[in-house]
Amino acid sequence: MNNPQRTCIACRNIKEKKELIRIVRTKEGEIEIDKTGRKNGRGAYICNDIKCFEILKKTKGLDRSFKSQIAAQVYDKLIDELNLL
Ligand SMILES: [Zn+2]
Repeated sequence: MNNPQRTCIACRNIKEKKELIRIVRTKEGEIEIDKTGRKNGRGAYICNDIKCFEILKKTKGLDRSFKSQIAAQVYDKLIDELNLL
């Protein structure tokens, strides 16, 4: 069995997909943590680690991944969601 791998958009480490959290941008433009990993929309992968979420916020990594401007509040919201996981 070959496990799919993805690159963390914050630290750039390559990990197995199941070890990473998927962040999705839905058709409606909402950005959220995709707990099931199956939501429709453009996805990006990040480590299940607050440090990576903080790097992401500092470097505005989602702006690059989703090729649009993402408000700072969105990053804060994702950090809140991570803390609830
Ligand atoms: Zn990472």
